[in-house]
Amino acid sequence: MAENFKLTYATMFNPPEELHMRYEEALVKVKAGLGQEYKMLIGGKDHIASATFEDRSPVNSDWLLGVFQKGNEQDALLALRAARRAFPDWSRRKWQERVKLLRKAADTIDARLFEIAAALSLEVGKNRMEALGDVAETADLIRYACSEMERNNGYIVEMGRDPLVGYSSVNFSVLRPYGVWLVISPFNFPAALTGGPVGAALVTGNTVVMKPATDTPWVVRLLAECFRDAGLPDGVINYVTGSGRTLGQALISCNEVDGVTFTGSLDVGTRIYRDFAGCNYLRPIILELGGKNPAVVTRNADLERAAVGIVRSAFGLQGQKCSACSRIYIEEPVYDALVGRIVALTEKLALGDPTERSVYLGPVINQSSYQEYQQFTEELAKAGSILTGGKVLTEGAYGKGFFCTPTIAADVPLHHRLWKHEMFLPISMVTRVKDLAEALRHANDTEYGLTAGFYGSEDEAADFFDQIQVGVSYANRPQGATTGAWPGFQPFGGWKGSGSSGKNAGGHYYLPLYMREQIRSVVK
Ligand code: NAP
Ligand code: MG
Repeated sequence: MAENFKLTYATMFNPPEELHMRYEEALVKVKAGLGQEYKMLIGGKDHIASATFEDRSPVNSDWLLGVFQKGNEQDALLALRAARRAFPDWSRRKWQERVKLLRKAADTIDARLFEIAAALSLEVGKNRMEALGDVAETADLIRYACSEMERNNGYIVEMGRDPLVGYSSVNFSVLRPYGVWLVISPFNFPAALTGGPVGAALVTGNTVVMKPATDTPWVVRLLAECFRDAGLPDGVINYVTGSGRTLGQALISCNEVDGVTFTGSLDVGTRIYRDFAGCNYLRPIILELGGKNPAVVTRNADLERAAVGIVRSAFGLQGQKCSACSRIYIEEPVYDALVGRIVALTEKLALGDPTERSVYLGPVINQSSYQEYQQFTEELAKAGSILTGGKVLTEGAYGKGFFCTPTIAADVPLHHRLWKHEMFLPISMVTRVKDLAEALRHANDTEYGLTAGFYGSEDEAADFFDQIQVGVSYANRPQGATTGAWPGFQPFGGWKGSGSSGKNAGGHYYLPLYMREQIRSVVK
């Protein structure tokens, strides 16, 4: 790739030409191979289930991307047992050896960056730069986990020597893996939100079973192949596909799982938390859940910057990011000016086939999201007013996909339920506030606490950071008001209903979540 260019969500707005060329080449190749049947991967072998399901593109439902295995309870058990068998050898290897293999997996992902990104655009409907970002972030998350292992010397720490007379007593604290780790991922970042947790679980010595969302089995299969081809021993990673309600539930309800990372909605996450606790004994479960992310803009803000950041975060990936900006609180004196800019920028966004260079918004993920969009916009039109958007596109090529225009709603009373409900669609709501204190009160008045953005003076930003209840907060950021975190720069995680661990992925405190402490005390 072009020298001196590092792709992150903060740099992707102005990529070198080479990036576009290579993506386009990969897209041609990927499109030529559509419609194949893909197997599960259990114990190093391809594995078929008793039934299959079709994976179609949200861009155009005529595009059959692949046929996938509809795994069931038996398949869940086979995968967990394969991971169990692989655990003793993998966990007892030197951590340096695991780091080496995982760096190789990250390099393999990089080598296939463009092909996986092209598949991702077709499967999720993600625009090309966001698709490239998802895959590049995956490799960086894995590398970050590797460098954390190194920085912490494998989490082996010598403790004090007991002050015993006549003996010498040596104490070590060692962090050790739990065993079989289950990773369940959502549709919207199938690469990063599968590969990131998988990398962390593996480098710390766990073995893994991964289950992607029903909407995105393809990208995760391509990712599983990267781990396999990097030379991980058989059974260290296992990939199973099938519905959350059956296969996912079977995995979660099984005593064979020693720890879980689940990324998805608050509803499903809360249910899983209870079900997972209802088995043999309590085991760790890391939940990364939804968001209802506010932006706050005061009279001292640079309005141009605020408008650009807000529009990017509201409508990137069609608003289907856990970090999407869905609520905008604006101080009265700048309300009209800012809303005018936001609407104007929104109306300039290109909607269409996300593989095309000029397109910013692709389709929403599936029929049920498409229907929800129509219900929510109708509800908002009744409760307030739609300043722009509110329509689905059905003409010509749009007719075969799930295309929803980016929507800004205003004048919706602050007690309306949609101020608190995560819609997960290209819909954002604006309102006036008297001052920063009022904005903060509303911003915090939700069960979520994932990300938040602020535009205003530096003094106000300090107050904002102190009082906002979220895991990731940004001030005066044109690259995105509430979105665009990157491992090592903005570790990502949520407070309150947005996450269970209180520690962010891609940060200092993440890897220890995948290990348990053992004290080793020897008296000589
Ligand atoms: P979802 O419907 O909650 O599904 C997430 C995963 O859970 C999917 O793989 C799903 O499989 C599986 N699942 C569903 N029911 C299950 C069950 N009973 N047992 C085990 N697994 C089950 O979420 P989504 O629609 O894919 O993703 C959007 C949500 O994820 C949003 O709420 C978003 O905010 C959140 N999210 C959070 C973060 C974060 O870092 N905090 C990041 C991205 C997304 P099926 O697809 O087969 O149902
Ligand atoms: Mg879903």
